[in-house]
Amino acid sequence: MKRIAILTSGGDAPGMNACIRAAVRGAIYYEAEVYGINQGYQGLIENDMFRMYSHSVSNILQHGGTILKSARSEEFKTKEGRKKAYENLKEREITGMVAIGGDGTFTGAHIFYEEFGIPIVGVPGTIDNDIYGTDKTIGFDTAVNTTLDAIDKIRDTADSHGRIFFIEVMGRDSGYIAIQSAIGGGAESVILPEKESTPDDIVNHLRDGMRRDKSFSIVVVAERDVPGYAVELAKKVSEVITNKDIRVTILGHIQRGGSPTSTDRTLASRLGLGAVEGLIDGKTNQMVGIINDKIVYTSLHDAITKTKPLNPDLIRAMKILSM
Ligand code: ATP
Repeated sequence: MKRIAILTSGGDAPGMNACIRAAVRGAIYYEAEVYGINQGYQGLIENDMFRMYSHSVSNILQHGGTILKSARSEEFKTKEGRKKAYENLKEREITGMVAIGGDGTFTGAHIFYEEFGIPIVGVPGTIDNDIYGTDKTIGFDTAVNTTLDAIDKIRDTADSHGRIFFIEVMGRDSGYIAIQSAIGGGAESVILPEKESTPDDIVNHLRDGMRRDKSFSIVVVAERDVPGYAVELAKKVSEVITNKDIRVTILGHIQRGGSPTSTDRTLASRLGLGAVEGLIDGKTNQMVGIINDKIVYTSLHDAITKTKPLNPDLIRAMKILSM
């Protein structure tokens, strides 16, 4: 009898519940026992686990957030913390673990596997889409749809008043949310962490648009380490463009919530099942992903050390279409 434990860790992402449901039901299908761990690695250290059944995951697929809750655990970064976590798994005779989260979660999982040998399959659950080894991460599509809904609304008011709006979106190390929001939202300009843009570049681009009779503009800005980078940029631009009203909207945590889109529900369901099937097949220290619509497994080492660069075709499309 296999015993599989599931946790969600790091920043939450819409679709994590669909993934938990798929992992639980997949495990039961393969006649494994399932345990849910509350609060990510912190709950594992504190032995906060409970048995899950098929009905434990009824009616959660469509909800954002995670029924297992998420936490950032400093204690798991210590050897003593991880030892406690291992002992809790050993005591319950758990033979495999599904860890849903981002690169921090996978770093923890990789170290934990190397130290204690518990088989682990990671599932990429983060709105940032910044994980190597999968075309998309769980929550990304929903987050972009949320930003597009906001951008559409801001465009209405920007148009009415002839304003320039700077809209800050999430993705401090990865511009995927920013570039897709900019293309889908018809923005005039996008500021990405991967590409240095000076306030002068933004001013020149906005002035080009005004010369072509653009009465309002949208600039999508990927956040930096501290929220508010868009405020800083808007201030610098307003010192030069003085004949336009310039406003800033920071979208913040609304991008993490909400009901997952159909794309995220399907992705999360396939990845949750894929994680369990990987464990049943004897895979360990790997991450499950989907590339070209096929389930693939990548070593956790590669998932955390290799980067997934922005698709240059998106940057090219943005450049041409934002004229
Ligand atoms: P997101 O990309 O959404 O922020 P994440 O999984 O990268 O998600 P982190 O907060 O970076 O989120 O990591 C989640 C947890 O993983 C941490 O709170 C910690 O418990 C564990 N973790 C991260 N790095 C390490 C590490 N070097 N050693 C052990 N555990 C780690």
